[in-house]
Amino acid sequence: MNLASLGFFRSLRQDNHQFAVIGLGRFGRSVCSTLHNFGYQVLATDIDEKRVAQALTEQITSHALQLDSTESAALQEAGIFEFDTVIVAIGNYVQESIITTLNVKEGGVPHVIAKASSEVHCKLLQKVGADHVVFPEYEAGCALARTLTKPSILDRVDLDPDHSIVELIVPDEFHGRTIAELQLRNRYGLNLLAVSQDGKFQINPNPNKRLERGSAMVVIGCNKDINRLPI
Ligand code: ATP
Repeated sequence: MNLASLGFFRSLRQDNHQFAVIGLGRFGRSVCSTLHNFGYQVLATDIDEKRVAQALTEQITSHALQLDSTESAALQEAGIFEFDTVIVAIGNYVQESIITTLNVKEGGVPHVIAKASSEVHCKLLQKVGADHVVFPEYEAGCALARTLTKPSILDRVDLDPDHSIVELIVPDEFHGRTIAELQLRNRYGLNLLAVSQDGKFQINPNPNKRLERGSAMVVIGCNKDINRLPI
């Protein structure tokens, strides 16, 4: 998540327990099953009857309907416009994805998340009113490239284009040194948020704590400073 998405996620209602997912490809199915496993109610829809039946058989949702989402009347009849949040999970059929997103927005759904399969698709979805666009293939590719080039970085949250929170393996150079000795703030401009120990994180660790090879640490700061760490 980054600052650009903050407004959207803040606007989601905490008490919303119902979602509609349009399109039951791999992406739509994973959204459905995760929401369903978390105990939320999900209405899953697809134009393909077999995919609808399969979703019910595999119990990735408790409610599923066959409909053509390019037809506004079908969406209205299914009650899709009454949902607070709708996920348009049609990546490979650009025309259908755009028309569906337009229909759902025109139907008055306040939060519409749509899946894009290319940059142009992404722009078109934004033009027709999607509140949030995800581009999983692109995002996964970026994440993989980062992991390959910096394998010591276990996880990262991009706060904005220049700042991140990063979880990394304690560099060999830091082994056996106390947090105070390392002077991360003076030398790198980074703040240490947490250090792992026995499978858990110690938040705001004591400056006298010695770091150990193989454990993890979490820092916040500028990307250029994070890149200066000996990893
Ligand atoms: P993949 O499964 O390859 O990862 P994906 O998750 O983006 O990609 P798509 O291949 O785009 O999935 O398929 C999404 C689903 O949307 C398909 O099951 C398809 O039947 C469905 N779909 C396509 N057009 C419509 C439509 N007009 N109305 C409802 N569902 C549709």
